[in-house]
Amino acid sequence: MGKIAILGAGESGAGTAILAKKQGYDVFVSDMGTILDKYKALLDANNIEWEEGKHTAERILDADEVVKSPGIPDTAPLVRQLIEQGTPILAELEFAQRYSKGKTICITGSNGKTTTTSLIYYIMKKSGVDVGLAGNIGRSYALQVATEDHDWYVLEISSFQLDNMFDFRADIAVLMNITPDHLDRYDFDCLKNGATPMQNYTDSKMRIIQNQTENDIFIYWKEDEHISEELRKRMLGYAPQPTPSSRPANDGMPSQYAFVDTDFEDMGLEFSQMGQHNKRNALAAYLATRSAGADEALVRECLKDFPGVEHRLERVAEKGGVLYVNDSKATNVDACHVALKAMDKPTVLIVGGKDKGNDYSAITGIVKEKCRAVVCLGADNAKLHGSFDSLGLPVADTHSMKDCVEACRSLAQPGDCVLLSPCCASFDLFKNMEDRGEQFKTIVRAMP
Ligand code: ADP
Repeated sequence: MGKIAILGAGESGAGTAILAKKQGYDVFVSDMGTILDKYKALLDANNIEWEEGKHTAERILDADEVVKSPGIPDTAPLVRQLIEQGTPILAELEFAQRYSKGKTICITGSNGKTTTTSLIYYIMKKSGVDVGLAGNIGRSYALQVATEDHDWYVLEISSFQLDNMFDFRADIAVLMNITPDHLDRYDFDCLKNGATPMQNYTDSKMRIIQNQTENDIFIYWKEDEHISEELRKRMLGYAPQPTPSSRPANDGMPSQYAFVDTDFEDMGLEFSQMGQHNKRNALAAYLATRSAGADEALVRECLKDFPGVEHRLERVAEKGGVLYVNDSKATNVDACHVALKAMDKPTVLIVGGKDKGNDYSAITGIVKEKCRAVVCLGADNAKLHGSFDSLGLPVADTHSMKDCVEACRSLAQPGDCVLLSPCCASFDLFKNMEDRGEQFKTIVRAMP
């Protein structure tokens, strides 16, 4: 076995190091930041050499292969050098799959990945399958392959991970949607070959099906307005094409399944979570798990009793006839728009936090239509007032979660919903979006 260098020693880097060591590689781990104690202990216990606070270039440039954390961009000087000298740079998932016997259900897309991945995992687990959860969520894929390789994996895959996947093959690939996102990291080569950042981003997402064969399965949402006709044609060019001689894929499912929103009703599905977008997530999960052989009745039951994912349109409690919903994950205007669309009661909306150059005009229409009041929660609420004051609704001003929930309580009427869907990052008053959601839930639950 050759020399492997691993850049970044988080969950996936540490896991990769352990798998590589087990496979007999000469392993070197390097992290520019500080490595968490638990990962240091894991590396030490496996006699793996590591460094933190720097990248020793000679060691890394000398490796036969490099596994890079998806957080490190290709523009980092060391990565550029590696690319220039032709060293293969892989994602953890690519490396781990080499040594796994398990089949994979892989989920990508700009939105809905975590919800769909969690739901698929929930169904597979309830089906009694030996299944692991990994990628952007859960434990390291490589670590699971090294220690307890499963029969199946449900993998949430970001476009940054896909960028460094070449031989990886998904048994079942799910593409939720493609919305302009992270385009700042996809402006490469545009001047050279005339591609737009959006085309580069789309190409990256399409790697989810790059090595599929006719017996693999590709599930995607057909109505995505961001996938142009031209891209769709290209996409279908990439996808596995069933030939007349190919056997029908698992459980009679076609090898390509392009679903549309009305399939949800046509199939008579029911889902525990609110909103049209969640029906799409449920449909994708239904198709993926049925393709993997899960029992029809069981899948339908699971959709009904799925508890949801924390901080995403999470029902917290009903107090005084008012439903409180935590959607702290909504850190941009689009996500808040999706959440408001899902509301079927008059809503008191909590917005605010660290503004990322948001344009609130995209939601003023739906706020006027669905909301009884807006409660601003942030260190600086001036911009929010500027956007919402003219709508003819009460707009309250608060600077702590406690005051915010109190303001909501006094503005809401029985039958209403209070929705925390802030459009903004949380770092002005909270540690992160989880902390914001936790504080909201704790205060709401403690209310009489
Ligand atoms: P991701 O992991 O891709 O960020 P999540 O499942 O965590 O996706 O959902 C994040 C947010 O994206 C949700 O709060 C919701 O506003 C929105 N969302 C979820 N599913 C979809 C979907 N299928 N289409 C569009 N937006 C969605």
